[in-house]
Amino acid sequence: MKTMLSVLISVCAAAAFGLSVEKIQDVHGAGEHDLSATWLQTYWNKATGKNLRLLKPSEPFRSNAVYLGKAALEKGLVSKEETARAGSDGFVLKITEDAIGIASENPWGLLCGVGRLGEMLGLRPTGNGAGVFPPSVPPRELKECTIIDAPAFFYRNGGNPLTGQLGSLMLGDPRHGADPELFRKKSDLWIDHTAGYLVPRLKYYDAHPEYYSMLKNGERIAKDSFTDHRTPLCLSNPDVTKISIERAEKWVELNPDKKFFYLTYGDTTLWCRCPECEKLDEQPGQYAGRLLTWVNAVADALGKKYPDRIFLTFAYAGSDAAPERIKPAGNVAVVVASSLGNRPFFAHELKQGGMEKMQETLKGWLGRGGQRPLVCEYIGGTYQPAFVPQTADRYRYLKKCGVGGIAFNYGNPVNFPKLWWYLHGKLLWNPEQDAMKLMEDYAPCLYGAAAPHVIAYLKLADAQYQKTLQSGRKLANAYPPDFYTPEFLRQACSVLDNAINSPGITETLRKELTSEKYLMLADAMKHLPDYNDGELVRFVLNEGNRCAKQLNRETEFARSNNLVLRELEKTLPPSRIMALKKQIGTTTGAVPEKTAAGYRFPAAMWSGQDFGPKEYGPKNDPLSPPKLCAGVFTKAKGGRITSSAEMSLVFDLPEPEAGKEAVLNLEGQDAVSRGAAPHHLKNKEITMMRITLNGTVIYDGECGFAIHNWSRREFKIPAGVLKKENNSLVIRNTGHARGAFVYCWILISDAQLQFPGQQ
Ligand SMILES: [Zn+2]
Repeated sequence: MKTMLSVLISVCAAAAFGLSVEKIQDVHGAGEHDLSATWLQTYWNKATGKNLRLLKPSEPFRSNAVYLGKAALEKGLVSKEETARAGSDGFVLKITEDAIGIASENPWGLLCGVGRLGEMLGLRPTGNGAGVFPPSVPPRELKECTIIDAPAFFYRNGGNPLTGQLGSLMLGDPRHGADPELFRKKSDLWIDHTAGYLVPRLKYYDAHPEYYSMLKNGERIAKDSFTDHRTPLCLSNPDVTKISIERAEKWVELNPDKKFFYLTYGDTTLWCRCPECEKLDEQPGQYAGRLLTWVNAVADALGKKYPDRIFLTFAYAGSDAAPERIKPAGNVAVVVASSLGNRPFFAHELKQGGMEKMQETLKGWLGRGGQRPLVCEYIGGTYQPAFVPQTADRYRYLKKCGVGGIAFNYGNPVNFPKLWWYLHGKLLWNPEQDAMKLMEDYAPCLYGAAAPHVIAYLKLADAQYQKTLQSGRKLANAYPPDFYTPEFLRQACSVLDNAINSPGITETLRKELTSEKYLMLADAMKHLPDYNDGELVRFVLNEGNRCAKQLNRETEFARSNNLVLRELEKTLPPSRIMALKKQIGTTTGAVPEKTAAGYRFPAAMWSGQDFGPKEYGPKNDPLSPPKLCAGVFTKAKGGRITSSAEMSLVFDLPEPEAGKEAVLNLEGQDAVSRGAAPHHLKNKEITMMRITLNGTVIYDGECGFAIHNWSRREFKIPAGVLKKENNSLVIRNTGHARGAFVYCWILISDAQLQFPGQQ
């Protein structure tokens, strides 16, 4: 296969010989079924406010026009030699004194060329999609030039010609293949796992259960035990292959404008246990052998009729490791599920080690025949403190390795999502570009007057990323210990404050920027260099809490800090934890409130809990009225739940109340977890609870709160238990361990300390 890596040849004449944008009137289109003329008309209109007329193929060539594809070649604007230099995914864009020509060896490259012209007209994407920001000043002139350019990656996920991301536009959707009625409303079939399309359960299961996976007990999986998205096939069955070929052929035939088609196993780790399937595996538990046997057979059959299509399959959930005996067919690209995406300090890990296993898996597929492998990343929902260098470093690494592109990233990081999408798109075309320059170019579209401050912040984070890379200190929990230094945090807050206080920005934008600051501080709280530095902790908590208040995210901040405490409990001495708890409480306002009878402890004071502080209500249990609460579930041994089964809070008392007899008044619920099955609800076991105060057990038994609703209970505190300082109240769920199916919860919505005679 021909590999073109970002050849950018750009020749620009002196500005004096420019093309006046105003003069351009018409488009000579590239022919039928071609999107490029439509895209061009849209872009031209958005940038200049003018409509270009699409000329009929029979009309004679005109000057002052745009020539697309074949028309550009016939007009003599672009030569075949030039399109050959651009390669099959690239384009040639030529601007002369009275014409613009764009051509490519294929329609997709042409579309990218039109996108580039859109960028030159000053358009920028609004996000991941077709929306565009118009230029602040409509362009008057385009410089004469010849651009020959090709992308570094042949698959670029997203759908945005401006940045050359055409993945989703080029990808076949199995729901638009044969028998679409099988995949309407009730089906969960999506574009990635296509086994359910290739051998549909509804069509074949009743007559041929043997097409589907054999279980350990020798029986075939039951029809209602899997969905379309998770279809497990018996890949060694010749009829499964035959049907897959027929249905894949129909699918490609019905989608002539698509280039990529997934031929994939269901999203499951359940692989067929029949002896014929197992024979195809090189090692027990590694299923890439049988997967490729099936995929290659389908891809080979289709390649004869459709030589320019590429078939994608997953190295994932059992088919991760590349087999020795069988290689992907020439028209197959393996998509490797990669854990390289969420590495906030990618370059650091590359240097220090820590991702060798993933690198090995990826390298196993590189140079193994077939198309260059793609990666499938999981960066959605993560926080990336220095996403500009992190993204650039990662994509440069992927390119250097010989990866063919990114198939999915499953969402965007939580911080600066739109900046990230733009950077992602631009770097997929050419990761060698100056990433910060791209941000400087794009930020004004999103942030207006605040853009210079946002850029200053990104540069600050970038500098800190580079500095910590240089210092080479060992990563702790994926972060360099010298990233969130007091100096950096103060500067970062001050720069973000400048952004937030920019004159003339909208309230929505102010909120968005406040949220960026909040996210940074919540992340910093998780990765401080030294939790004994009381001043630093106070600074981060104060600033974070101020943002959280403005955003109404105080309980979220409390929850986040609570998780931090839980982690720290593993390493810091109890006295320091106690002090931190109180410090968090004081700065975030999670402190006891005085009542007529004593004190109320707000839900945000609890730490170590598994739930909350958060509202629990009809969303969790249809019968429960909503209340803000915190809760714990049973500790499971060996299950995936790692709960300590305890939640606790710390409080001080004025001298006269220490040592007194008192009552602990709790409002709570013996709750049901969301994952509980209906029969669990019917036979719900009673949750067990132990309450200790300063080490003295004040209750141990059935938790006694109402199920599906809130109720109150009182517990006597004998004299001599309460102290002046650091009283520690602990509620422990002592119910039975039930692994992932825990359904015995204790939720506490109100906790009060009452002194007899005071009410
Ligand atoms: Zn089988």
